[in-house]
Amino acid sequence: MVNPSRGPERLVRAGQWLIALLFAYFLIQVGGALIADLPLLSSQPRLEQYLDQPRVAALETELQPLQSRQQALQEQADRLRERQQQASQAYGREKASFDNWRSARSVTEQSEQNPEVIARARQLDGLLQQQQQLSAEQERIEAQLRALRASLAPPQQQLGELRAQAEGRWRQAVQRAELRAFGIRLLFVGPLLGLALWQFRRFRGSDQWPFVWGFLLFGLFAFFVELVPYLPSFGAYIRYGVGALLTFLVGRALIRWLNTYLARKQQEQVAPQEQRQRSIRYEKALQALGRSQCPSCERSLPRRDGVLPDYCMHCGLQLQHDCSQCGFHHYACFPYCPSCGKPADLAPERLA
Ligand SMILES: [Zn+2]
Ligand SMILES: [Zn+2]
Repeated sequence: MVNPSRGPERLVRAGQWLIALLFAYFLIQVGGALIADLPLLSSQPRLEQYLDQPRVAALETELQPLQSRQQALQEQADRLRERQQQASQAYGREKASFDNWRSARSVTEQSEQNPEVIARARQLDGLLQQQQQLSAEQERIEAQLRALRASLAPPQQQLGELRAQAEGRWRQAVQRAELRAFGIRLLFVGPLLGLALWQFRRFRGSDQWPFVWGFLLFGLFAFFVELVPYLPSFGAYIRYGVGALLTFLVGRALIRWLNTYLARKQQEQVAPQEQRQRSIRYEKALQALGRSQCPSCERSLPRRDGVLPDYCMHCGLQLQHDCSQCGFHHYACFPYCPSCGKPADLAPERLA
């Protein structure tokens, strides 16, 4: 099939798309930097701002000596427990050794009043006493620790309440900040997207189209990247509400577009053959025929031996005709006869 674009035109067209993308890229960078520099968006509320600082400080100074005393006592108790364990093990070992020794001796039937027996029994007693002393000391320290914990509890509870209150106020402040940040972003991005869509609708057909497309991409990027992720998440209402609204708007726009398209096609089809031929742009006609489509009604056409029919069977548009000078059979949209070069009777404006 004949390619409708001229040689350098294809290259220039690719270059124009590159221009559109580059234009969008630089606008996106500028827009992103601008939004990032907004002072109202960078300040986040901090939890400490909502604490009753003097009261917290007073409670902490009250707690501090008690807590260090608690730590010291705890360490002391740990050390005692260790010593007690050692003492208990030492007693166990000594007792087992004494028992063995005594049972070995009883075989030889010597007196229990032997000084060696008495000395060893005393040693065992001493070990037992040491163990008992350690136990008593441990109990004393545990009692001190319990008393300390009881006096620690009220200020600790007050501190916890203060922190919980501050956290509640802080969460509310964070939500307000999110909402405000979203509002500010909306103030920037909303009009930008509106402008981008409006200029796209009006000027996309102009020869400035790379800038029109670039600006549209910029607007869409700003909407989806700089606005949508910052939708405040108060439950799912806003997020899904916006989703539903957008779907509704896009759906309605599609239905409207389809209706106008069908109405336009119907109007085109009732016009006389000559006027219909004139109204179709040359490039568009060649592209459509290349895809085996009718240039007017855009329905598909069957090829017989690679050749399209003379008339569209869907709308009646004449697709091929004979040259009035040499009789050569060719596409009706060609501005010149490919055989004899006679200019077509129809549509000089189709030469565009
Ligand atoms: Zn047709
Ligand atoms: Zn001819």
